Amino acid sequence: MSEAPKPAAAAANPAAPAKRPAGRAGRNTELPEHLKAYKGVWVFIEHDRGHVHSVSWELLGEARKLADTLGSYVGAVLLGGPDEHLDKFAAEAFTYGADKAFTMTDPVLKGYRNEPFTKGLTDLVNKYQPEILLLGATSMGRDLAGSVATTLLTGLTADCTELRIDPVSKALAATRPTFGGSLLCTIMTLAYRPQMATMRPRTAPMPQADASRTGTTTHDTLGMVETQIVTKLLDFIADANSNTINLPYADVIVSGGKGMKSPENFKLVFELARVLGAEVGATRPVVQAGWVETDRQVGQTGKTVRPKLYIAAGISGAIQHRVGMEASDVIVAINTDPNAPIFDFAHYGIVGNAMQVLPALTQAFAAHLAQRSRQVA
Ligand SMILES: Cc1cc2nc3c(=O)[nH]c(=O)nc-3n(C[C@H](O)[C@H](O)[C@H](O)COP(=O)(O)OP(=O)(O)OC[C@H]3O[C@@H](n4cnc5c(N)ncnc54)[C@H](O)[C@@H]3O)c2cc1C
Repeated sequence: MSEAPKPAAAAANPAAPAKRPAGRAGRNTELPEHLKAYKGVWVFIEHDRGHVHSVSWELLGEARKLADTLGSYVGAVLLGGPDEHLDKFAAEAFTYGADKAFTMTDPVLKGYRNEPFTKGLTDLVNKYQPEILLLGATSMGRDLAGSVATTLLTGLTADCTELRIDPVSKALAATRPTFGGSLLCTIMTLAYRPQMATMRPRTAPMPQADASRTGTTTHDTLGMVETQIVTKLLDFIADANSNTINLPYADVIVSGGKGMKSPENFKLVFELARVLGAEVGATRPVVQAGWVETDRQVGQTGKTVRPKLYIAAGISGAIQHRVGMEASDVIVAINTDPNAPIFDFAHYGIVGNAMQVLPALTQAFAAHLAQRSRQVA
């Protein structure tokens, strides 16, 4: 499936085509002359209190592949306050594949707020004209991508699972789940620039850093004053409960599904996870039943994970769960039904009752790890 996304209603924007035919049938799929000069694959580098979100590096890895296919360059875009370490982040971005860094500093860019960041990013896009703009599908990225795409009157494909260049049109072919995850659709923005997409953390692999890579940095300022901004940033109060569950970046995950049958039985999943030093994941029905927190849901409407080991107990392997965990290095499935779909893509399958298999695994791993630590001592 291929369709051009609907741009928002017309507003003053030099990048927008003058005339737009009404209706889907008459939609213009030709790139207007004045947008043909747009070149470069940009990644918005998301940072907060001195830390860059890993999704930005993952996106740089994807941007590198896209730019190499197009024979173009990779740009890292950094917005922040004058005392934030944008040059340090830019240097790190070069190691992950960026060729150029576009930094914008201004006191009103310290701490994310939609209005100044939207203006800053749209100003940079209008000035340097990148062909593609990628953002992480995080809270910040989702908020910013929508308002930037609307302001620039261009298309945005959210929550992509794959990005590539269409060999015929040379457009960004952005693939994402649709119809409740039962189908994948590929969307191309043919007549507007930049082509925008967001990707969730861990959907793409982390690129290898190359410390020898460097690049050029361009500095810009925003020119906006505090009185122009409606939202005020008064204070930052950390949520004591956030970041206690870090599924996307866990190396080992033990996940349980409805086949665990009760919250009591689900404790067996936690016990194996404790012995392995793993995170606990779950399917949507388990979250909906209130057995575990929402943050533990893996899948299309939950988290995307990429652990070295994913143990799935009592999970059928529905497509909406699969899209969130199939990139795991090793998947071990425990299910009573030998025909469960999860066995089609698991690397190792145990046909058996999870209520018996999980305690056996917990005991075996605990004994093995205890023996190893005795040997080390
Ligand atoms: C729009 C949309 C978005 C969705 N998003 C998500 C999502 O993000 N994540 C997600 O997980 N789901 C999601 N779903 C739900 C998804 O379609 C499935 O319903 C869900 O993944 C199934 O969960 P499950 O495997 O726990 O349960 P079931 O499908 O009921 O499977 C239970 C499995 O346990 C096995 N079993 C039973 N007893 C035992 C036992 N004693 N030992 C071992 N195995 C046993 C059964 O054979 C069965 O295979 C979404 C659905 C929709 C429509």
